Amino acid sequence: MKAEIVAIGTELLLGQIVNTNAQFISRECAANGIDMYYQTVVGDNEQRLLEAFKLASSRADVVICTGGLGPTQDDLTKDVLAAYVGRELVLHEPSMKAITEMFLTRGIHMVESNRRQALMLTGSDFLHNETGLAVGVAFTHEGTHYIVLPGPPKEMKPMFTNYAIPWLRNVMTDEVPLYSKMLKFAGIGESNLEHTLLDLIQTQTDPTIAPYAKEGEVTIRLTTRANTPIEGEQKIQTTEQEIRSRVGEYLYAENDVPIEVVVLQMLAKSKLKLAVAESCTGGLLSDMITNVSGSSESFLGGIICYSNALKHKLLGVPMDVLEGEGSPGAVSSDTAALLAENLLATTGSDFGISVTGIAGPSPSEGKPVGLVYLGLAQKKVETKVFRLQLSGTRETIKHRAAKNALYQLWKQLKDT
Ligand code: ATP
Repeated sequence: MKAEIVAIGTELLLGQIVNTNAQFISRECAANGIDMYYQTVVGDNEQRLLEAFKLASSRADVVICTGGLGPTQDDLTKDVLAAYVGRELVLHEPSMKAITEMFLTRGIHMVESNRRQALMLTGSDFLHNETGLAVGVAFTHEGTHYIVLPGPPKEMKPMFTNYAIPWLRNVMTDEVPLYSKMLKFAGIGESNLEHTLLDLIQTQTDPTIAPYAKEGEVTIRLTTRANTPIEGEQKIQTTEQEIRSRVGEYLYAENDVPIEVVVLQMLAKSKLKLAVAESCTGGLLSDMITNVSGSSESFLGGIICYSNALKHKLLGVPMDVLEGEGSPGAVSSDTAALLAENLLATTGSDFGISVTGIAGPSPSEGKPVGLVYLGLAQKKVETKVFRLQLSGTRETIKHRAAKNALYQLWKQLKDT
């Protein structure tokens, strides 16, 4: 099945926003066996939009549109598409009711144009919008399938994954279903992982191997076609074993979960407690941990000891370790170890993790940007310190440092 994306919005053409929707949709299509042949971007202009639909329909089996579903006059997608395929626009009553209720609850006056968000083309299927008001639609016209999605990524992504993909799978009945498996890695960068698996990635045919990176985590999705999950597992087995033999030490999950979820499950299972001391991550590690519901079972809390004064006052790191001529400094193995160890005594936790580093953009203490020390202390176990040299922006370095700390804890938990 050949697909084309039509991303609609003058903001895209002006460079005011980046077409991240196209990236997301393309990846999802690739993972679902749909070949992306073209990506078009067109402004909020009736004539050019019509031309874009004509061209896309002439060369693709699936036309996937995003944007232009809002209530305003420049939101033209459904009007132009309806005119192009010769269908009417009709109200989707349950969505209209939900929109009306939302305005009532918030005490905001609803204007007539808000009704536009509940419009569908006659004979189209409804795609639920879990996070917004505009209704998505899917339909087939003269052999071409059309998917119409809202522009805001937080609305478009769940609609595409949860409703449009199942709809497309349903119309792709003559194809053997896809079987996918996710492998999640931490503690290794995307380029390093790709480099280690390069020969496999370059010669892949069946299963396909698709690496994706988020900050501090990498996912590999193995995909094949199979009639049953057992057949799917058999078809990916050899490739999966080869990947495990090369980078298995970084593999922490077989589904799409962040590492903090896995770490917290392990801590809870063993009834162990964790506390953290954060310098350069400024609370980010605690934030990641507390984003997991139920984290209170294992997470005692964190101390943001950003200044040397607080590293000394709250966690007892001697000032002559932190600063002064010939001292190791705040960003050092000594400081990381002391912070982590002293956390155990201060908080009574079973594990103490510390993060101290230079997030940038300027070097400090004569040390380079991206240098990070992680301390990992555990009751009755020798304290470990990990030295990382990370790259990226200030935010990226903070994120990678926090994820790396979770990876080191995961490794320690796994090995004990
Ligand atoms: P709304 O109801 O918010 O008007 P809409 O479906 O009409 O939604 P647009 O008005 O086209 O969508 O875009 C709304 C916002 O969604 C844009 O300002 C932008 O932030 C985001 N957006 C739209 N298209 C894209 C895209 N292709 N990639 C990334 N973000 C996008």
